[in-house]
Amino acid sequence: MSKQTHSFQAEVAQLLHLVTHSLYSNQEIFLRELISNASDACDKLRFEALNNNALYEDAPELQVRLSFDTAAKTLTITDNGIGMTAQEAIDHLGTIAKSGTKDFMSKLSGDQKTDAQLIGQFGVGFYSGFIVAEKITVETRRAGAAAAEGVRWISGGTGDFEVETITRAERGTRVILHLREEALEYANTWKLKEIVGKYSDHISLPILMEKEEWKDGELIDPKDENGGRQPGGMAKTGEWETINKASALWTRPKKDITSEQYADFYKQISRDFDAPLTWTHNRVEGSTEYTQLLYIPSKAPQDLWNRDKKAGIKLYVKRVFIMDEAEALMPSYLRFVKGVVDSADLPLNVSRELLQESRDVKAIREGCTKRVLSMLEDLAKHDKTPESTDGVTDVLSEEDKVKLGQFTQFYKEFGAVLKEGLGEDFGNRDRLLKLLRFASSNSDTVSVSFADYKARMKKGQDAIYYITADTLAAAKNSPQLEVFKKKGIEVLLMTDRVDEWALNFVQEFDGTPLQSVAKGAFDLGKLQDEEEKKAAEDAAETFKPVLAKLKEALKDKAEDVRVTSRLVDSPACLVVTDDGMSMQLARMLKQAGQQAPEVKPVLEVNPEHALVKKLDGSVHFHDLAHILFDQALLAEGGLPADPAAYVKRVNALLS
Ligand code: ADP
Repeated sequence: MSKQTHSFQAEVAQLLHLVTHSLYSNQEIFLRELISNASDACDKLRFEALNNNALYEDAPELQVRLSFDTAAKTLTITDNGIGMTAQEAIDHLGTIAKSGTKDFMSKLSGDQKTDAQLIGQFGVGFYSGFIVAEKITVETRRAGAAAAEGVRWISGGTGDFEVETITRAERGTRVILHLREEALEYANTWKLKEIVGKYSDHISLPILMEKEEWKDGELIDPKDENGGRQPGGMAKTGEWETINKASALWTRPKKDITSEQYADFYKQISRDFDAPLTWTHNRVEGSTEYTQLLYIPSKAPQDLWNRDKKAGIKLYVKRVFIMDEAEALMPSYLRFVKGVVDSADLPLNVSRELLQESRDVKAIREGCTKRVLSMLEDLAKHDKTPESTDGVTDVLSEEDKVKLGQFTQFYKEFGAVLKEGLGEDFGNRDRLLKLLRFASSNSDTVSVSFADYKARMKKGQDAIYYITADTLAAAKNSPQLEVFKKKGIEVLLMTDRVDEWALNFVQEFDGTPLQSVAKGAFDLGKLQDEEEKKAAEDAAETFKPVLAKLKEALKDKAEDVRVTSRLVDSPACLVVTDDGMSMQLARMLKQAGQQAPEVKPVLEVNPEHALVKKLDGSVHFHDLAHILFDQALLAEGGLPADPAAYVKRVNALLS
């Protein structure tokens, strides 16, 4: 194939522009990205070679080499991994296959630090080379292909790139960066070693550089730090040395690993710039043997809510990388956990299908899940918030001090995802329930556990009351809460979108039933005294004829109309039947474009309210009835079915 010119896909061109114009304060990440690609390429080769040993072509030692040429102003990253065919080079280095990239573009903030993080998360790795290079040449040959099937790819990182066939004896890929004038500092051994040490130390692949020696200079002072020689410059020796640790961190004993090393390793595998919140590292022995190193990030990624996103666990078998995003190893509700699992039992050629069925994998998944839950329980136990200690922290134990606020931080970022577990992981439901925190009518901060709530329950109270709403304000001001406020009964306020769904799976906590204050008939049980009950019954009796008329007027909208004593200041509210889907959930499903059953709520009216008292005999009865209903709907965050008609009715009455 002679030289061909191709245009970059429009998104790539746009991305390249952004990469080169907005990331110069975080330049050095380009090396991490390119080394990570090289390492991936070696992993791929190793994996394919499991079934085809010939792919090693007499060079079984996989490695990455860094070299530079100050005269030519180039920096070269060479790997002997899988390589690319011409078509692969055109496809992979000219387009962005990932659907998330548009998303990525829209999220760029203009702030370099955040944008650089995003680049990492979305994996636009290769193109980051153009931060430091005005031109990139890639020479590559697919493992197993003939030497004549090598490919050269060249681009200046603007509109297009060139591809041509070359002869390349070695398999793998060489990325030659033609450095920009401002980026010449990277053509330097110390600089490269420093960056490798920072970002790529724990890549399990050796990264090599040619050893350099001081050129013989004049002897000036034997005590001098350069061995007494005047630095005559550095000279290459032709000998290559490994400049990274290249040992899989998780295989080293815990006591030999510093917190900093753990954090560095996390940054490498997660492409996160922030240190992790916490981690757990264990060698599990027994019927299934494996090592787990699991991290909880300190911040939620942008795509946390994408449930199709694979879990962030890398699977190794006896230190050989098998696959990324091994979702079989972590349930979906823990998809934020990052880390490594290295199994001693799985076969090396384990496929995705096999992974789904293997008993060992099931055991690992269970073990990892339990481990993450205990890690969270531990954080919760030590989470002394400034409020809980009245700001006094010097009485805390050392462990408390380290873990101060960590659970709160975790919960803020990942609490909502954790709740998905109630529906997903029946076996761990009780443990999960204990980890949940909510705001309540007593507390604006999301800090009340079911156990806290139970400890504060009133004498005679036999249920845990809660309300779900779109926002904290809507929950707090909901009419359904009025009588609870009056009687000083705490109500949990649930405002995560997932709450409603998750609570479907929970009937009780520790023997006490959960009761939505917007579901079912109003019954405070022993919390209501006889007098109140009697008054309510009397009101229901005298109100009967009005109720019948209301029912008739609202027969298309309301399942039923009844009087209630749950209201204090509001004239009416809507509730659903005990087993009915809540109005909020039905709305959410509709918004999400899903089929939701038509929910007909029950209208409850407050017989003590002036507006309700007016109903009897009013000439505006029909309008008032509809206004009552629509207002109740508004109050709980819904919209009248016919907003214009509602406005008309209100205006008619106002004027
Ligand atoms: P990502 O690595 O996140 O997929 P990149 O833009 O860094 O995104 O790379 C795009 C693709 O180009 C890779 O998925 C891979 O197929 C190919 N590629 C990049 N670098 C190499 C390399 N050194 N060897 C083989 N293939 C590579």
